[in-house]
Amino acid sequence: MNGVWHAPGRVNLIGEHTDYNEGLVLPFALPQGITVEGERRDDGLLELHSGGLRETVELAGLAPGRVRGWAAYPAGVAGALAEAGYLVGGATLRFTSDLPSGSGLSSSAALECATALALTDLYEVKADRRDLVKVAQRAENAYAGVPSGILDQSASLLCEADHALLLDCRTGMSSRIPLNLGDHRVLIVDTGVRHALEDGRYADRRAECEEAARQLGVPALRDVKDLAASLSLLTDPVLRRRVQHVVTENHRVEATVGLLRAGAVGDVGAMLTASHLSLRDLYQVSWPEADVAVEAAVKGGARGGRMVGGGFAGSVILLVRRAALPAVREAVGAAYAARGWGAPSYLEAVPSRGAARLS
Ligand code: ADP
Ligand code: MG
Repeated sequence: MNGVWHAPGRVNLIGEHTDYNEGLVLPFALPQGITVEGERRDDGLLELHSGGLRETVELAGLAPGRVRGWAAYPAGVAGALAEAGYLVGGATLRFTSDLPSGSGLSSSAALECATALALTDLYEVKADRRDLVKVAQRAENAYAGVPSGILDQSASLLCEADHALLLDCRTGMSSRIPLNLGDHRVLIVDTGVRHALEDGRYADRRAECEEAARQLGVPALRDVKDLAASLSLLTDPVLRRRVQHVVTENHRVEATVGLLRAGAVGDVGAMLTASHLSLRDLYQVSWPEADVAVEAAVKGGARGGRMVGGGFAGSVILLVRRAALPAVREAVGAAYAARGWGAPSYLEAVPSRGAARLS
């Protein structure tokens, strides 16, 4: 028994730093992702290949911490499948990717989700996709040791072409929202800035949100119902800013869904820019190259844009009318050149289908 499966990366249209506050996010899947060619084997081994890399893992005795490095992601899926009662056996899995790794487009979830589909299909194990989301998340959290939420795995497994996925990070419930871009395009601009080291600023934001929720007496900032009253209860101006971002960002996700349902995709640009300004001024996680890209793009004719991801490094997304793409790229390039920065790189984000068997 063999086959080929593909699982995509994703970009989050809006809803930043809302996930760990048990709020709303709105990702969509990219055409780029990870493809795996898989074949069953009966010796209880997982033989994993990617690029020039090769690892062999014994399924018996798989447990968190046993496998390190990139193989922890696919091996973790096998381990988490077994923990969840899905009995699969050995396999040879050969991965290829057209998704840049470590750039915030979620190659790790694509790797997990491709593995989950391959192993369950190879062993004809029927598994609900929502269960596979949890299996893949468990692989990432426990086996690879990355404490991430359900956004990436949900997007990779549950998205459909020309749709975004409205995901409630508290309940895990999701629904597909039509995302027909018409004559608009979503452009990912890689600002070229990378994290030097995990410097703890992301952990600081999470801690600030937990502290604000504690002071407000709510389980999570998701539960803030009266923003003005809540802000007046907080004496620390930093916590006030954090709460203001999280609460208004959840509203912006809902407003964006309303605009998409109305077919008013161009107006989503204003939501993206509002999100960016909130991330810059209230949540304080933006970085100069992102601010300059958004400002230059909007001045150059983009409908809007925002930084994506945890912050301080990575990419910006822009919503641009197709005809304005050359002018916008020109404007961003000129603004970067004027500051002596290298030209950013671009990737068009086309809302694509979720993970699937190819053959
Ligand atoms: P992102 O998910 O945003 O791309 P992460 O840091 O979460 O970034 O995941 C990147 C890690 O996933 C890599 O360090 C590697 O361990 C693993 N990975 C991603 N793509 C591949 C691939 N094609 N082959 C092997 N490992 C991969
Ligand atoms: Mg990842």
